Amino acid sequence: MCAQPASVSLDDIRAASARIAGRVLRTPMVQSVALREMAGVPAYLKLEHHQATGSFKLRGATNAILTLTSAERSRGVVAASTGNHGRALAHAAKAEGAVATICMSRLVPENKVAEIRRLGAEVRIVGGSQDEAQEEVNRLVAEKGMVMVPPFDDAAVIAGQGTLGLEIMEQQPDTATVLVPLSGGGLAAGVAAAVKSRNPKTRVIGLTMERGAAMKASLDAGHPVKVEELPSLADSLGGGIGLDNALTFSMCRDLLDDVLLLSEVEIAAGIRHAYGVEREILEGAGAVGIAALLAGRIRSSGPVVSILSGRNVDMTLHRKIINGAMPVKGEVAA
Ligand SMILES: *Cc1c(COP(=O)(O)O)cnc(C)c1O
Repeated sequence: MCAQPASVSLDDIRAASARIAGRVLRTPMVQSVALREMAGVPAYLKLEHHQATGSFKLRGATNAILTLTSAERSRGVVAASTGNHGRALAHAAKAEGAVATICMSRLVPENKVAEIRRLGAEVRIVGGSQDEAQEEVNRLVAEKGMVMVPPFDDAAVIAGQGTLGLEIMEQQPDTATVLVPLSGGGLAAGVAAAVKSRNPKTRVIGLTMERGAAMKASLDAGHPVKVEELPSLADSLGGGIGLDNALTFSMCRDLLDDVLLLSEVEIAAGIRHAYGVEREILEGAGAVGIAALLAGRIRSSGPVVSILSGRNVDMTLHRKIINGAMPVKGEVAA
């Protein structure tokens, strides 16, 4: 593979947009009357959790697969994610007639294994940790010529996620603030690149949980650092950014206006508001924008857009949160 460019441009995102058109949903953006009252400015929800497989990750995965040569595609794609990236890659590969292999450790619960299989992927159970699953990915790349599609630090993936930013600016050109859930930074980097190229004055704010926020710690340190992983309601926002991060760290550093951290109690309130008032089922990661608005943490001079990034939450946990279970300090509501 050739060396990756150091950033992702508007042209890359436009090309991704043309490539994935018709394969990925152009999601609706709806007004929230309740959040408008709270924020004092028009508030919009970008319903990205309505995407097939329940998250925006389908954009990046689809774009990555469509940029492969036919020889690469026929050797198949591989990843170690059991979460939303794994789901999206499985679905996108099947849709394009390619095989996705998802490597996971034997500690991954049976329902997650079954879900990835149902979406059409080959599942390989290896070892007792995520690291060992990743070693298997590296082996399949080296020995079988499969192509690894990383969850965030990859130009094609970032460009795919950036298509969401283009849509927001088309749907609401006078957007003043965009609230983006932030983990490895593929979504935030792509969305910020698209939004800023349309209107440099539009603010893009990354939102993540207090517990184990790797990108925030890295931005504060000035270079990628490791943080301890802790359980959170926003489990899709966990994990590191990679000490050898090539793209998302510098793009988030250069393009994000701010990064805010949300407590577990604030995230639970976001999930509850989404369900009770907006009538939307969200996982914790998908609710951080609403959570920040509810907590009065966002000041915007004009329309604010919150990206609802995903809905893949365990429904037993969701029910408990809706019924008022509050996460206690030091643990997740369960
Ligand atoms: C992956 C994910 C995020 C974070 O995306 P990054 O590109 O890793 O920052 C946010 N929300 C949901 C639902 C996700 O699956």
